[in-house]
Amino acid sequence: MTYDVIVIGVGAMGAATCWELARRGKRVLGLEQCDIPHTRGSSHGFSRMIRMAYYEHPDYVPLLRRAFERWYQLEADSGQKLFYEIGGLYMGREDGDIVGGSLRAAREHGLPHDLFDRDALRRRYPQFELPAEYVGIFEKRAGFLLPERAIAVFVIEALKHGAEIHGHEPVVEWRTDDRGARVRTERGTYHAEQLVFCGGAWSDRLIRDLGVPLQVTRQVLGWVWPKQRELFSLETLPVWAIERPAGGIWYGFPMMPDSPGFKIAAHHPGHPFDPSRHDRPVSREDEATFRDCLHAHIPTANGPLLSMRMCMYTNSPDQHFILDRLPNRPRVTVACGFSGHGFKFASVVGEVLADLAMEGATRLPAQFLGLGRIA
Ligand SMILES: Cc1cc2nc3c(=O)[nH]c(=O)nc-3n(C[C@H](O)[C@H](O)[C@H](O)COP(=O)(O)OP(=O)(O)OC[C@H]3O[C@@H](n4cnc5c(N)ncnc54)[C@H](O)[C@@H]3O)c2cc1C
Repeated sequence: MTYDVIVIGVGAMGAATCWELARRGKRVLGLEQCDIPHTRGSSHGFSRMIRMAYYEHPDYVPLLRRAFERWYQLEADSGQKLFYEIGGLYMGREDGDIVGGSLRAAREHGLPHDLFDRDALRRRYPQFELPAEYVGIFEKRAGFLLPERAIAVFVIEALKHGAEIHGHEPVVEWRTDDRGARVRTERGTYHAEQLVFCGGAWSDRLIRDLGVPLQVTRQVLGWVWPKQRELFSLETLPVWAIERPAGGIWYGFPMMPDSPGFKIAAHHPGHPFDPSRHDRPVSREDEATFRDCLHAHIPTANGPLLSMRMCMYTNSPDQHFILDRLPNRPRVTVACGFSGHGFKFASVVGEVLADLAMEGATRLPAQFLGLGRIA
């Protein structure tokens, strides 16, 4: 049989793409090298932040509006809780990356938000101790998603719509020509009209002629048991981020029922990492990357360590995503380079990739993420 589309990599983006293609009635095969879901890639760790006032660039906001709608659609279709829209609080210098960038996106797109000076911030959120020049911006349209459950639900819904999905089946070779595409795995050979690559940290191994350097880095998430746990409950705390003097941000989540402790991490590219390694090591040095923040800014959370997990970022040269068809290979669509901030978009990325694969173009506002800007 010839499939309409083979999706290679069934992590966050691949699972969402299988769902969308299957909903459209396409014959889709998803091939995943690991379990579905798994903890060796970029999409594990119990929670992912979702925000609307996007400090990374205001151009993402229209895509985010659609992403929010699509997460709610997935919840409605599946009857599963995946999205906690509990608000987001971003703290830093008013002209710094996180607050300045969020304000710019909010103002450009008319997004509701509140701006707190440091004293107002301290009264409203006594959990945080901040430098005198820090302010805070709060937006209601933010919160977190459950990544492992979301991937499982995308896949279940795709299967219900007739998709075929195989775990533990690494793609070892592929080819396209005028007649179609051929994919060889450790178990068989499959044919399709189109290929969609969602290989995450393995993307540049899968697509040798991508033409864009991707750097994979290791990132460590931590969970601690707060000294005053009532201050960090789901009812008390929104998702939050604090400008980090060394660059990037620290960020975290309120405590959740299915992952013990208070989750915190630093968002900045870590050390390069080879995704084919079998281990996913963590160390005392990794603990320091978030312990510094607890010590300086959230002392009432600075309790014993419970867990640490390593995950990978796949960084593009400009830290923006790559969503495009390969210019010299009309049957190949790629989604990669999510640079540590892609999960929240998975629900709309599935739509963009389905459009690109089936129509060759999309009406969704994703053109700014094309390969042309880098090449
Ligand atoms: C620590 C950390 C925190 C993050 N926090 C946030 C956040 O708060 N908010 C947010 O929006 N984003 C966040 N991100 C980013 C987000 O999680 C990623 O951008 C997103 O999950 C990437 O999805 P993906 O589908 O590209 O990768 P993955 O989910 O890793 O999927 C790629 C898949 O391809 C498979 N694959 C690779 N090669 C092959 C092959 N040859 N054959 C078959 N299958 C193959 C892999 O096994 C994998 O399952 C975070 C990332 C990390 C690491």
